[in-house]
Amino acid sequence: MTRQVKVGHRVYEIAFVTNGDIEADGHWGECDKRRGIIRVASNGRPRDAQAETLVHEILHALIEDTGREWDDDEEELIVSRLSPRLTAFVRDNATLVGELLQMLA
Ligand SMILES: [Zn+2]
Repeated sequence: MTRQVKVGHRVYEIAFVTNGDIEADGHWGECDKRRGIIRVASNGRPRDAQAETLVHEILHALIEDTGREWDDDEEELIVSRLSPRLTAFVRDNATLVGELLQMLA
């Protein structure tokens, strides 16, 4: 699997972790905007749940790229509402997503 994601002018490393602070804090992922690292807890979790967490953290990175200072609670609310829907959209519209990629090539 790709271990990097380009978001705007930045490249984030993607790390699938089995233990550590993320899960201990009750979170499944983390977007370290300062260091450019996205961490996703992978141990024992279904792949679709990991995918949704990855999308969630990418949305945090996208918001960072807008340059807007968001209130943390506001950002989390928006990201939490959008991430499952965007994940489902990609899953449910694979043909369209492929066509979009062709249009952008
Ligand atoms: Zn979040």
